[in-house]
Amino acid sequence: LTSRILVAMALGLVVGGLFNFAENQGWTAGVFDAWIDEFIVSGVFDLGGKIFVALLKLLVVPLVFVSLVCGTASLGDNTRMGPMAGKTLVLYMITTAVAISLALLAGWVIKPGVGFDLTSDATYTAAAAPSLKEVILGIVPTNPVQAMAEGNMLQIILFALLVGVAMSRAGDAGKRLAAFFNDFNDIVLRMVVMLMNFAPYGVFCLIAQMATDLGLDAFANLAAYFFTVLFVLFLHGLGTYAVALKLLTGLSPIMFYRKMKSVMLFAFSMSSSNATIPVTLRAVRDELGADNRVASFTIPMGATINMDGTAIMQGVATAFIAQAYNIDIGFGGYMMVILTATLASIGTAGVPGVGLIMLAMVLEQVGLPVEGIALIIGVDRLLDMTRTAVNVCGDAMVTLAVAKSEGMLDEVRYKEDPSLPGHI
Ligand code: ASP
Repeated sequence: LTSRILVAMALGLVVGGLFNFAENQGWTAGVFDAWIDEFIVSGVFDLGGKIFVALLKLLVVPLVFVSLVCGTASLGDNTRMGPMAGKTLVLYMITTAVAISLALLAGWVIKPGVGFDLTSDATYTAAAAPSLKEVILGIVPTNPVQAMAEGNMLQIILFALLVGVAMSRAGDAGKRLAAFFNDFNDIVLRMVVMLMNFAPYGVFCLIAQMATDLGLDAFANLAAYFFTVLFVLFLHGLGTYAVALKLLTGLSPIMFYRKMKSVMLFAFSMSSSNATIPVTLRAVRDELGADNRVASFTIPMGATINMDGTAIMQGVATAFIAQAYNIDIGFGGYMMVILTATLASIGTAGVPGVGLIMLAMVLEQVGLPVEGIALIIGVDRLLDMTRTAVNVCGDAMVTLAVAKSEGMLDEVRYKEDPSLPGHI
């Protein structure tokens, strides 16, 4: 499947790139332009891409709910829940702090924004970042059906935990319901595998549309910013995670990346950690050997609160905008960036482009001109795709570390060659 997705991506790039080039050269002016834009790009490609993303998204809520209920109910000893959740949160925070520090450091050393010499006319105000109290309150649902309808991940997680814990304490009634949930879990997972087969077509549409619409002009001025973000994303995605994985689990990072390849491709094409949850969950359990009791909690949790790639973009972007406007926010300001970026990410779901909304909150908080976002928006699409791949990689790495420390990692499964039959 991975190679089929890669071929689809390459084809999408070629087709979209050709359309883009032809349009820019004016070769398709007039009726052809309209035909390409309206019928092929906004029609066929858009439809194909949207259907693919919707099909995966439709599985997210049932999958998270059912697998987490199963996971919690089968944990047996509920007292393990606390330490497991604690370790997950701490690791998520630490990896994000490392990510954003690397980004701020790179922004400080490379100075991508120097030379722009802009002045702010402050015309825009962003929504304020949520306070810690609001974030905590937002986790507790008043109505689980509403939480599911809105896809509010943290509320769904809390409700699923409650149901699972109650089930494990409810004797026979709990056992009967657990059997039902386990069957339901198998069915939803089967659906994930079924739908993954459509990935090459969906990915082709998404990439072709992206490549056609990509405005290359924006890159000329923003090359320094773009490549700084990209560099830190690669550094963190391949460096920090590899080192952390080796240190925390002793396992080979190469196998990790081999088995995460397809998940990262999904995340990259869909720009959404949330929509990628079904694929990530399948990979960490079935390919990398993390037990469902850990993964069903850490993966949906991570897709919502752990966004290292997004934090990296925010770090570089803040430094870039501060430099472009010649504003010094000082050490305290940068500490504030770390804090606000982390808080903003907790309450925000991993969907396309949400990083920019979070960035607006961060800028507002440290008194930088929010309209600075307009500077970087032109190159954000590709960065969004790349940082989403890093986001999901971080979730998977932490899942393995927690699973290992809880004795819930099947290392034989982890080491199994992914090219053998039975693997995707
Ligand atoms: N698209 C990212 C994600 O889903 C969030 C962002 O950085 O915009 O993880």
